[in-house]
Amino acid sequence: MPENKKIKLDKNSIMFTFWKYFSIFAVAILLLLWLLQIVFLNRFYESMKINEVTKIGDYLRGQFEKDNFETQILNYSQRKGMNIEVIDEEGHLIYPLTLIDVIINPKVIDQETFNEFFKGVKDGKKPSRVFITRFENLENPSIVYAGYLGKTGASTYYITIKTALEPLDSTTDILKKMLMIVSVLAFLLGLLLSYYFSKRLSKPLVEMSRTAKQLGSGDYSVHFKHVNYTEIDDLSKTLNYATDELTKTIELRKDLVANVSHDLKTPLTVIKSYGEMIRDISGDNKSLRDKHINTIIDEADRLTDFVNDLLDLSKIESSLEEVKLEEVDLSEITKEVMERFQKSLPKESYEFILKKEGRTHIIADKKRLEQAIYNLINNAVNYSGKEKTIRLEVIGKNGMVEFSCIDKGIGIDKSDINNIWDRFYTARANHSRPTVGTGLGLYIVKNIFEMHKFEYGVESELNKGSRFYFRAKAV
Ligand code: ADP
Repeated sequence: MPENKKIKLDKNSIMFTFWKYFSIFAVAILLLLWLLQIVFLNRFYESMKINEVTKIGDYLRGQFEKDNFETQILNYSQRKGMNIEVIDEEGHLIYPLTLIDVIINPKVIDQETFNEFFKGVKDGKKPSRVFITRFENLENPSIVYAGYLGKTGASTYYITIKTALEPLDSTTDILKKMLMIVSVLAFLLGLLLSYYFSKRLSKPLVEMSRTAKQLGSGDYSVHFKHVNYTEIDDLSKTLNYATDELTKTIELRKDLVANVSHDLKTPLTVIKSYGEMIRDISGDNKSLRDKHINTIIDEADRLTDFVNDLLDLSKIESSLEEVKLEEVDLSEITKEVMERFQKSLPKESYEFILKKEGRTHIIADKKRLEQAIYNLINNAVNYSGKEKTIRLEVIGKNGMVEFSCIDKGIGIDKSDINNIWDRFYTARANHSRPTVGTGLGLYIVKNIFEMHKFEYGVESELNKGSRFYFRAKAV
């Protein structure tokens, strides 16, 4: 199928979402800039100016009667372009005076204006006030600081600072134009950057999805690459873990199928060939026929055992059945299982000894525990050789209960002892065909013990016997 090369806009893609948020962010910043620069610029400028004038005025008031008071006034008026004057309570200019001023002693403000300027200004509570006013000869409004300086002799002195507020219209116009350009540029840049970032960010994800598709199509050799972003790298690690587990499961399944088909085929071949032998050779020979028929029955039993083990195994592995934990008496369970063997085995063939000590109650799933004990006793019976005594011990001591299943049979070779718990492992696997067992019994036991978090193990010596044990907390 030809691939559709057309780029479609996927609104749920990381790229689009990223671009969307990036654009929203850019628009928000621009809006804020517009608001601050254009809408609030005038107010901002005004309050800044007022602040400045107030600071200077307050400072100068503090300098009154100090030596360099006049120099400071001169300094500020030159540096800040402000009109700073000291007047007396009648509005006569005191400082700065030109030569002519000294002669004519001018009144810089009339009494009415004076009263308006210094409304409420007194020493102490309210020594100054700042306001905006329009002077007749000036086009723009001015900020005026009117402050009380102090008394010297009979006169009281005041200070006025006047500064014009510059018109901001042209500034705002320039700003508007600049902001327009900035907006367009920011938008384009946002578009480009978000495209670049989102591409970078989504690249590992896209690659991962490609690898996952490969995995889905049955290629288990895939590896999810290391990524620089922690979250995506975690995902990558998890997927690698899942792939490993999947590979293991698939290998186990292959293993299982191979083992199962082999273990099913062998008894079936035996049954078939013995059937043929009865038909062709031993049909009329009673003793030979009985021998052959017994072999067929034995093989059928083996098949049944094997199928049962497989069923138990699949139940345990799929954890289909819930684990039902309850308080049980381990010695009771052991006794019950032992009696089942005593009933089914030929009389007098095996001797069972059960030893119980202390309190033997534990928490366990009764059915599963029975099965584990059954498998252990079954092995003890199967591998007991000539010495057919099987000791079962359930001993409660120090808050623990220990179960042991002891036989004096063939024992286990050191080279096998670590493997006997494995699935399908039979100690004679490399030699002849085992006469008993499927190699699943101890694997099931192990699963049951681990499910209960019991400590378990085996002590064994070749030709001397074995002791299989597990320990559980007493209740
Ligand atoms: P099987 O069905 O072959 O008995 P198990 O998983 O129960 O499988 O046991 C694995 C192997 O461990 C057995 O084949 C046997 O060689 C060895 N084994 C288990 N129990 C005993 C025992 N009590 N004495 C000697 N060998 C044992």
